[in-house]
Amino acid sequence: MVTKEQVLDALKGVMDPELHRSVVDLGMVRDINIQNRDIQVTLALTVPNCPLRDQIAADAGQAVDVLDTDLNVEIVLTAMTEEERERMRQNLQGTRSQQSDLPAGNLNRVKTVIAVMSGKGGVGKSTVAAMLAVGLRRQGRRVGVLDSDITGPSIPKLFGVREAPTMSPLGIMPPQTAMGIKIMSINLMLEDEEQAVIWRGPMIASAINQFWNDVFWGDLDTLVVDMPPGTSDAALTVMQNLPVTGIILVTSPQDLAGMVVRKAAHMASHLSTPLIGVIENMTYVICPHCGERSALFGKGDSKAMAESLSTRFLGGIGIDPEMAKLADRGAIETYANEDFSELTAVVNEIVEAAPAAKSANRAGVAHG
Ligand code: ADP
Repeated sequence: MVTKEQVLDALKGVMDPELHRSVVDLGMVRDINIQNRDIQVTLALTVPNCPLRDQIAADAGQAVDVLDTDLNVEIVLTAMTEEERERMRQNLQGTRSQQSDLPAGNLNRVKTVIAVMSGKGGVGKSTVAAMLAVGLRRQGRRVGVLDSDITGPSIPKLFGVREAPTMSPLGIMPPQTAMGIKIMSINLMLEDEEQAVIWRGPMIASAINQFWNDVFWGDLDTLVVDMPPGTSDAALTVMQNLPVTGIILVTSPQDLAGMVVRKAAHMASHLSTPLIGVIENMTYVICPHCGERSALFGKGDSKAMAESLSTRFLGGIGIDPEMAKLADRGAIETYANEDFSELTAVVNEIVEAAPAAKSANRAGVAHG
C-alpha cells in the first residue's frame, strides 16, 4: 500500500519547467487521494491555461507511477486560489528586490540580450528586430522581444498580437506570437493602439525597467530589444539597466553620413557594450518587370562605416513590398528573406557561445 507521504516524496522530484522549483515546494499539490490502487493527485497551477500544464501533468504521473507499477494514477489539474498564489509569491520572494514586489526578475533566465538600434526612426529598426527574433525562433531558440521604443511601439502590430498581458503571481505574463515568441510592449497595455504615448523621461525609464524586472520572461536564449531611435535617455536607460550582450546597428543608405549611428556606437563604447554589427536596410530594390536589382538611394557607406567602427557589416536588405504588406497585416512571421540570414547566423553563434543564464537577471536600476 502506497502512502500519501510516499506520493508527496515522489512529487518532490517534479519540477515546474519554468520556475525550476518542485511542485511540492511551490505549494501546487492541493490534494492526494488514495483508494487502494487508485491514486488521484490534484495539482493547482498558477494560471488555469498554463502553457506547461500537459508537461507538468505527465511528469507528475510518471513520478507517482514509479512507486508501484500496478497503480492507477490520475492527475487532476486545477488553478490556484488567490490565497495560494499569494503564498507562492511570498515563498518565491526569498530574494525579494527593493524595486519590485514581483518575483519575475529573480526567476527569469535570459541567456543573451540583443539590442537593435538605429540613428533615426523609419529606417526599419523594428522590422530588423522582429526578423531577428523570427530567424532565431526558426532555429529553435527560445526568444522574447522587448519593445522599448515606448513612444513609437510597433512590435505587437508586426506580429499581429493584440492580447493584453495578464498578471500572475510571478509577474506580468507576456503574450506569445503564433511561433511562440514572447512579446512585451507598451502598446499591449493601451486600450487604443493609436493612443499616443506622451510620457516624460522618468516614466519611460520606469516602464522599460518594469518590462525587464516585472515581466515573467522565464527561460530565454535571446531577448531582442527594439530600442528607441537615436541616443535618447530611453536608449541610455536600456543600455545601463539591462545586461545587453551586444548591439546591432540598423542603417539606411540615406543616413546622412550615419552621424547618429556613430553617436549610438560611441554611446555603446562608453558603456562597454560590444557592437555585433551594422546592417543596412533599403539597400536595393528589384524591378518587378525586369528583375534587375538597383540601388534606389545610391550606394550607401554602411560597409565603410562598419569598418571604421571596427565591427562587422551584416549585409544589405532589399526593399520588398511583400514584407511591408505582411508587416502591415501582422504576419511578419510568415516572411522569409535570405537578406536576414547573416544577421541571424551571427547572433545565433553568440547565443551558442554564451554561458548558461543564472536565475537572477535582475539589473541594477539607476533611474525610475
Ligand atoms: P523603425 O523601427 O526604424 O521606425 P520600421 O521597422 O517600423 O522602422 O519600418 C518603417 C516602415 O518601413 C514600416 O512600414 C516597414 O514595414 C517598412 N519597411 C522597413 N523596411 C522595409 C523593407 N526592407 N522593405 C519594405 N518595407 C520596409
